[in-house]
Formats: sequence, C-alpha cells, structure tokens
Amino acid sequence: ATPTALLVGTGRGAQLGILIKGPEVLESTRRIDTVVLDKTGTVTTGQMSLVDIHVADGVGDEEALRLAGALEKASEHPIAQAIARAAADKLGDLPAVEDFKNLEGLGVQGIVDGQVVIAGRTALLDSWSQKLPADLAAAKAGAEKDGNTAVAVGWDGAARAVFVVADTAKPTSAEAITKLRALGLKPVLLTGDNSAVAHSIAAQVGIDEVIAEVMPKDKVEVISKFQAQGRVVAMVGDGVNDAAALAQADLGLAMGTGTDVAIEASDLTLVRGDLLAAVDAIRLARRTLGTIK
Ligand code: ADP
Ligand code: MG
Repeated sequence: ATPTALLVGTGRGAQLGILIKGPEVLESTRRIDTVVLDKTGTVTTGQMSLVDIHVADGVGDEEALRLAGALEKASEHPIAQAIARAAADKLGDLPAVEDFKNLEGLGVQGIVDGQVVIAGRTALLDSWSQKLPADLAAAKAGAEKDGNTAVAVGWDGAARAVFVVADTAKPTSAEAITKLRALGLKPVLLTGDNSAVAHSIAAQVGIDEVIAEVMPKDKVEVISKFQAQGRVVAMVGDGVNDAAALAQADLGLAMGTGTDVAIEASDLTLVRGDLLAAVDAIRLARRTLGTIK
C-alpha cells in the first residue's frame, strides 16, 4: 500500500515535481554523502533501439529477428522492447511464445516454433554449456567498446546471434551529476549491465565510481556495504530490481516514469523522471531542515 504522498514545503516540492511520502523522510537527507544511481531508465532514457544484428554461419538475419522478437515480446525489459519493436516493424506478426521465463539478472527464455530460445547476457549460455563462437564474441566486444549492449541469442542448443542495442544518457543527466558533486555528494553508478557498457555511460555523464554486473538481489547488498562503511546513501532507481535497494537506502528516490514497485519502495518520487529533480530534492530537504532546526 502506498502511503498518501505529501507535498513538500509550501508546495515547493510539487512545483519542482517531487512527491514525498512524509516529512520524516527529510531527516535522513541531511547527512547523505553518496548517491547511488541505477543506470537503465535512471541515468539513461531506457528507450533502447536495435542498431545491429550479427548472426552465426548459416543463420539468416530474419530468422534470428523472428525468434528473438517473438521471445522478447513477452518481456518488459527495455532491451526486449527494442528487439520486439524492430521485429514487428520488419516482419509484422510474430509467432507465439510458450513457457516464457524471466531468468533474473540474465535474460529470458521461451519456446518459439517448438524450440527453446534464449536471449540475454552471455552467461545465459553457461546453462547450455555453450560459448559465443569467435566471430560473435568479437562482434559483442566491438559493440560494448562503443558503449552499446550486446544480447546473446541462442536456439536449438547453441548461440546463434548477437543483437546490438543502444541506450543513451538523458539530456540532463550530466548536468545533474555535476550539481550533485557541487553539493559535496559522491555519485556511484550501479547496474546489472556489463562493465564496458557501464563505464561508457559513466564517462558520458561524469561518474567515476562504477559497480557493474550486479545481480538484482545483490543491489541491496551494495547499499548495505556502503552503510557499513559509514556512508549515508541516497539511491535513485526505477525498476523492480531496484526496489530492495531503494528501501535499504537512507533516502530512496524513484523515477516517476518507473515501475510502481520502485515508487512504493521509495521515500521520494521524481515525477518527471529527470535527475535534476534529485538535485532539487536534496537541496530542498537541506533548506527545509535548516528552517526546522
Ligand atoms: P538493468 O536494469 O541494470 O539492465 P537487469 O537485472 O534488469 O538490470 O538485467 C541485467 C542484464 O540482463 C541486462 O543488462 C541485460 O544484459 C540482461 N537482460 C535482462 N533481461 C533481458 C531481456 N529481456 N533480454 C535481453 N537481455 C536481458
Ligand atoms: Mg533500471
């Protein structure tokens, strides 16, 4: 159940597009020294697009797009939506998927046209005791060097394609990071995505501390570890996989554009999903507390 959202300080919060659950939330904000930021959908737009398809020998682009598109249609991940959209645009109707499974932090699996199809991180292939063939591994490395996300796609028991999906930083993210620093706060990027992609996005927005390849269940541990070191942590996130970390953080800030689960786990909601509002929220809390004390 969501507690009734209250508007902060004489409507100022509302004007700034910040919804707060209760005045006591502000208490913890004063000592925040670290701001942990989820990558996808928080620092980046999360509106990914499919930019390339690499296929193994003997595999057709359309076959790969049809199977991956059909599978990803059942997933809500931004990567999945990019692939499903591209497939539907190119091929129209896609086959149905059966026995769809979300493999937490790894990707997805389902049965399309009677065969098991997987899409996600290359670690997914471990369960099939498979690896990417050399040409696909090279394509993956090239994509990641460019800061894009490579999705391994397999069916019929082997890795058969790599899809390249691109996400971009939100236009205001770099400015918001600069402002967080100016407030004396240390920004940290936290993501399930791989290290190369994470570092590329971090460099674009000016973050130098990156924690990548973190499983959803382990995001909360990252926050606890910082707290055990005496850091006081704000966490900004949008996804179901961020909810536990948002709840654990001394201050949880959810993107209003994100999932309900993230919003419910948080102390504050940034209505427009703009990181500049996180800066406003922390400033506002400091100012409000200044007048209360
Ligand atoms: P994040 O929100 O940081 O992307 P997730 O835990 O949701 O973290 O996913 C971790 C990684 O697993 C993603 O970065 C992506 O590489 C892969 N992944 C998850 N879901 C899918 C999917 N439906 N299709 C392809 N890859 C996926
Ligand atoms: Mg996210």
